Amino acid sequence: MPDELGTLVGSPICPGCKVGHLLPELAEGDEEDDDCVEDVAECVWGCAKCGKRVCGAPVRDLVAVLRQRLEGCGSDEEALEEFLSVTGTLLHQNHYLR
Ligand SMILES: [Zn+2]
Repeated sequence: MPDELGTLVGSPICPGCKVGHLLPELAEGDEEDDDCVEDVAECVWGCAKCGKRVCGAPVRDLVAVLRQRLEGCGSDEEALEEFLSVTGTLLHQNHYLR
């Protein structure tokens, strides 16, 4: 997986304010549990802008779908551009996903 894929898929945009970005928050008492970060479905995702919180499962599903689509694009530039135009409103750069 080339590194640039990590910058193509960003953090999910907050569905509440459409401005902030959702970031995974560690569950209470789980600060030292690295597994929580890997299994995002177990996390709550929070928006730094409006404070909206979203449970992790839908976010994980969205990321999984996007990653599948991204991998399906391969080196097809047209497909990649379409992917970016679709996901540009959903995701922010510097997402953990690569
Ligand atoms: Zn928000």
